[in-house]
Amino acid sequence: MTTEDFRPEKKITTFYPPQRVLMGPGPSDTHSRVLAAMARPTLGHLDPVFSEMMDEIKGLLRYSFQTNNMMTFSVSGPGSVGMEMCFVNMIVPGDKVVVCRNGVFGGRMIENVERHGGVAVVVDDDWGKPVDPQKVEDTLKQNPDAKILAFVHAETSTGALSDAKTLCEIARRYDCLTIADTVTSLGGSPIYVDEWGIDAIYSGSQKCLSCPPGLSPVSFSERVTDLVKNRQDKVHSWFMDLNQLLGYWGSSTRTYHHTAPTNALYALHESLVMLAEEGLEHAWARHERNHHALKAGFATMGMSFLVDEQYRLPQLNSVYVPEGVNEAEVRSRLLKEYSLEIGAGLGAFAGKVWRFGLMGSSSKVENVLFCLNALECVLSDLGLKVERGAAASAAHQYYAANPMS
Ligand SMILES: *Cc1c(COP(=O)(O)O)cnc(C)c1O
Repeated sequence: MTTEDFRPEKKITTFYPPQRVLMGPGPSDTHSRVLAAMARPTLGHLDPVFSEMMDEIKGLLRYSFQTNNMMTFSVSGPGSVGMEMCFVNMIVPGDKVVVCRNGVFGGRMIENVERHGGVAVVVDDDWGKPVDPQKVEDTLKQNPDAKILAFVHAETSTGALSDAKTLCEIARRYDCLTIADTVTSLGGSPIYVDEWGIDAIYSGSQKCLSCPPGLSPVSFSERVTDLVKNRQDKVHSWFMDLNQLLGYWGSSTRTYHHTAPTNALYALHESLVMLAEEGLEHAWARHERNHHALKAGFATMGMSFLVDEQYRLPQLNSVYVPEGVNEAEVRSRLLKEYSLEIGAGLGAFAGKVWRFGLMGSSSKVENVLFCLNALECVLSDLGLKVERGAAASAAHQYYAANPMS
């Protein structure tokens, strides 16, 4: 330790984070009900009362995923752990996996396949476009030995939604299991795990579920649990081995596997209760409605979307930065002056687009109006010609013409 690190004159005391409005690619704002749930007394992770709550989480997740899968629970770790959990359990070294890449997260899936000894066959689509089902079909035709098809339902790096239902149909015809990344879609866009026949699905707590980050809801079909049970080799991860986790999340007599993040699970429980109270269809419609209002506001500032209308995610809006504007300066002023966080572009779109999240409890009327007004103020301060008040007014017009049923 250098003397630089140890500064006795800097007295470290309680950390009080500022109150932000989170409208980036996640995390989203945590609802006060969810924050309050986290502050309740910690229980032992084998306490029967805690087990009851875990069972309720499983039931609520089945509703959220629209599945009857027995193996539906929450992995202790962020969305990336849910991703890795699917690949490490389902890939036997040497397996061929078709991976669709149309953004950052498809690229991470390829990493996962290769690190777990699989052979990745990549179907590339341009960033900002959805996965092309025809290309997937052609690739599966050419690779009849492929075992798994993996794709990202909602690409957070661009805001493109892919047709999970069609992709699963194709996979089934070629006798492939499916892995779907729904980190950004769960709670924000329709997902029907059983109807679409998704075999392995993972999500994250901090996007449209509006929980703090750190938990990954997952669900596995019987086809997957059978595959994992019958594997000749041991799953190449102790922590993520589904067979072992079955004993903790799967049965009524719980055995110790790892210490569950109790208070984080109270938060997930509360957010899922809120989602069930609202109703899935209503939550999806709310995300749509706020997206259209935001879009109406952007149009008044001449800002256009990266993704074609029919593939746009309502919860992740990628829009081009107006000509001549320093995008990083706008983001930093929004944060400093308005305590509003938005996201930057990634990859080839770095410096070219902003990503506006309207996820979970961040997807609300007041955030849309606040964000449009703040953006207008900053852009006009920077010398851009914008008609003050026009954006929020356009959003309001949309809201007035499209009341929530
Ligand atoms: C955020 C995200 C992840 C990763 O989740 P973490 O909780 O950050 O690990 C994976 N896939 C998609 C599509 C995401 O948006």
